[in-house]
Amino acid sequence: CGVFGVVGVGEAANFTALGLHALQHRGQEAGGIVAYDQAEGFTSARRFGYVRDNFTSASLMETLPGTIAIGHVRYSTTGSKGATQIRDVQPFFGEFSMGGAAIAHNGNITNAAALRRELIDRGSIFQSSSDSECIVHLMARSLQRDIPERMKDALRRVEGAFSVVAMTRTKLIGVRDPLGVRPLVLGKVGDGWALSSETCALDIIGAEFVREVEPGEMVVVTAEGVQSYHPFEPKKPRFCIFEHVYFSRPDSILGGRSVYETRRQIGVELAREAPVDADLVCPVPDSGTPAAIGFSQESGIPYAMGIVRNQYVGRTFIEPTEQIRNMGVRLKLNVNRALIAGKRVILVDDSVVRGTTSRKIKEMILDAGAKEVHFRIASPPTSWPCFYGVDTPERDKLLASHMTEDEMCAHLGVDSLRFISLNGLYRAVGEEKGRDPAAPQYCDACFSGEYPVEPADMLERGFQL
Ligand code: 5GP
Ligand code: SF4
Ligand code: MG
Repeated sequence: CGVFGVVGVGEAANFTALGLHALQHRGQEAGGIVAYDQAEGFTSARRFGYVRDNFTSASLMETLPGTIAIGHVRYSTTGSKGATQIRDVQPFFGEFSMGGAAIAHNGNITNAAALRRELIDRGSIFQSSSDSECIVHLMARSLQRDIPERMKDALRRVEGAFSVVAMTRTKLIGVRDPLGVRPLVLGKVGDGWALSSETCALDIIGAEFVREVEPGEMVVVTAEGVQSYHPFEPKKPRFCIFEHVYFSRPDSILGGRSVYETRRQIGVELAREAPVDADLVCPVPDSGTPAAIGFSQESGIPYAMGIVRNQYVGRTFIEPTEQIRNMGVRLKLNVNRALIAGKRVILVDDSVVRGTTSRKIKEMILDAGAKEVHFRIASPPTSWPCFYGVDTPERDKLLASHMTEDEMCAHLGVDSLRFISLNGLYRAVGEEKGRDPAAPQYCDACFSGEYPVEPADMLERGFQL
């Protein structure tokens, strides 16, 4: 998901809509905005579909006046089964004795089921099926006198990954979990301030990137300035390494590094680790593009657009059912036949999850007359599900959970298949010595199976580590 908020600017909701539009890659199912204005009080809108199809209409945006607003773009992750219901669309809102507050959450709460049971037993009335709603009910139960303090109380009970953007009538609040699994950045825009999942959404509103919200930090932002708190026990951060590989936009800056440059470097590492003689390096667009550029630069094999992407289709992975995903590949990608015929082709993609994409693409490339097809993948084999806010399927649906690299190669029917090593990936994100096995610098659970936060709800449901 993507979260965004702004305070101290005119038309805060319009700024928020722009920010969410720049974060659309983080969630395409639905979006919501809450704003506050002295005359109108809190107003909100929640809609299915793209930001541009909803939050651009003047008649809707007029209903969201004020100089403070937050928003959320959603894609459903582990726990939420089936299509999104409007009641699950954030921001969530709560009325407290000291006033209202809205919250938008990116990540996944790993003890949400236990918390929900406890809260329901004590009288909370849940409106949604979302894990994030726990935060509002925990805030309601807190006895603290102001909303930031209540948020601290609530979030101390929550486990897992959370980057939260919240608002009161006057305050914009940003919090990251102690491991800092999901990103969150602070920006300055005119006399006001913005919080965003990624820097690309600061660019779109002309905001200046100030700094990241630190892992375990809460910032409380008013038009006057920023206050910083550290409400949690400090821990060694474990940022999601997959944000660098796939999830974030290539024009964002994460941990002081250009996402594009990291991805290009992954391609360089891949070309060193798994060279192969071929005529062309082609990305699987768009997610494989920077790594393919790096692979081509390092290997000297020409880069070419062997696969062309229809710009009017979203991310394939974020489609609810297998059947739609299957069609999705053809709706979205097509082979550039004239270029491919008779060639030995290296295809570079960011990841293999179920293998659906790679299989279809291989068929399309061979149909077009390619002589050889070699897959090079910019992440290690995805063998474990993510429980921290990226939607990976159950473990047995992950190709790499039950097949070796050679078996996957045979299953996909390609001439060769190689993944970047975990150490190679760490080098590409700037860890010159690679991964520290005693204290890994990132979360890499989907590749290593080492979960930095125990996935309590999933263990309860029978998941085996
Ligand atoms: P597959 O077809 O193997 O199931 O999925 C792999 C494709 O899904 C890749 O092209 C990758 O770009 C894309 N992808 C999109 N979202 C995700 C995600 O959340 N996790 C992973 N691992 N891959 C994703
Ligand atoms: Fe990121 Fe993978 Fe960790 Fe999930 S399990 S937070 S996708 S590195
Ligand atoms: Mg892709």
